[in-house]
Amino acid sequence: MGRARPACHTEGVSPPQPDAERLGEMLRSRGLRRTPSRVAVLAVLEPVDGHLSVADIHQRVLAVTGAAGPDLATVYRTVTTLVDHGVVHALAVDGGLTTYGLAEHPHHHAVCTECAAIIEVPAQRLSIALEHASEASSFTLSEQAGLTLHGLCPGCQPR
Ligand SMILES: [Zn+2]
Ligand SMILES: [Zn+2]
Repeated sequence: MGRARPACHTEGVSPPQPDAERLGEMLRSRGLRRTPSRVAVLAVLEPVDGHLSVADIHQRVLAVTGAAGPDLATVYRTVTTLVDHGVVHALAVDGGLTTYGLAEHPHHHAVCTECAAIIEVPAQRLSIALEHASEASSFTLSEQAGLTLHGLCPGCQPR
């Protein structure tokens, strides 16, 4: 048979490319028009696996777009719209900032008590623990509502 075709896309791992098409589809499926600022916010949040404050989102958007990017108020409005439509969800931590993350996959949150970083924990990983907790307390727990765990993020753990 013919020569084996070279595997072309495994070498040289490129930085995660925000896929504007897919992000646009994510918006469309929630009944939202695709706008540059919405796509920009999603492109920032998608690779994070955690939550960011509006100021952080704004900074990261500007890192991509340069000074021509949306201002903070626009990013704030955009994030609010995305929350209203269930694309993004908000998490308020006691005494901290409200942060935002993609709502696409059910997840819980782990908050670093040292630096306040918020890491998402896939809901699946905790579903058995939740079942046990419900059985023990006859309390109905919702995966939608989510849990907030506290601990140290990898960066803050003592070596
Ligand atoms: Zn979240
Ligand atoms: Zn930390």
